[in-house]
Amino acid sequence: MSQAAALYIVPTPIGNLNDISQRALDTLQQVDLIACEDTRHTAKLLSHYQISTPTWALHDHNEQYKSEQLVTRLLSGQSVALVSDAGTPLISDPGYHLVNSCRDAGVQVIALPGPCAAVTALSAAGLPTDRFAFEGFLPAKEKARLDKIESLKDEPRTLVFYESPRRLLDSVAALVAVLGDERRLVVARELTKTFETIHSLPAGEMLLWLQEDSNRSRGEIVLMVAGYRPDSDDELSAEVLRTLTLLRSELPLKKAAALTAEIHGVKKNALYKYGLEHLES
Ligand code: SAM
Repeated sequence: MSQAAALYIVPTPIGNLNDISQRALDTLQQVDLIACEDTRHTAKLLSHYQISTPTWALHDHNEQYKSEQLVTRLLSGQSVALVSDAGTPLISDPGYHLVNSCRDAGVQVIALPGPCAAVTALSAAGLPTDRFAFEGFLPAKEKARLDKIESLKDEPRTLVFYESPRRLLDSVAALVAVLGDERRLVVARELTKTFETIHSLPAGEMLLWLQEDSNRSRGEIVLMVAGYRPDSDDELSAEVLRTLTLLRSELPLKKAAALTAEIHGVKKNALYKYGLEHLES
């Protein structure tokens, strides 16, 4: 039975070949054509599962032009599957132009769920997952990388980056420089493969840990960063701030902060910092 004319987005394994779904295999078997990033790479997956569907190269450099040809085929009633080298197409991989063109042309787009390194890493990281921001790869150039991290400094959501082994150390050093030693990082390496490791440390310690052994930066990597959380010191209640403000009207800030700290059982430094920012003219 052949698949109905549509573009099927088909995720493929990120390391462990058993992580492909039956539906993905059936789809790859039954479509008229498989559009893929690298035909030789995808040929290995297809031969493993004895699938002989013809393939067609669609990569970053030819995507716009090839998308038009694929849309023509789809409109003529053919079915097409889109795969990338690994994981979910379009997630730091080609496919955006094709999907956009299909939707513009009224071609149905059907996405199959499946492997994605970002989601796999996040689900095992032990960082908050209620909200997260996928940021793809950090810029390769140092200034752009630092600027990017600076722009994310106060982002409260867990941050997820893809990272190359060559750049991991530089990226972690940049994270330490901008976010400080204490922000928690998680490095998930070689997920679903033999040498899978998931390591979680404060940024400063992570940098040292990676510097100790270059093997710890090898392979494919997802780098995650805990979102910004204001120190509990920063969370001063309205009542505490009222006390501080009243005392400050009669006393020097240092004394007012010390007394307020004693009255309410909060940290003096946070009160002093608040006072400097808001009560001193
Ligand atoms: N589309 C893919 C997906 O859904 O995850 C990602 C493609 S992107 C070009 C490749 C990057 O994904 C790698 O450089 C690495 O950061 C991450 N990645 C892919 N496979 C991985 C794995 N098995 N373990 C850790 N990270 C992986």
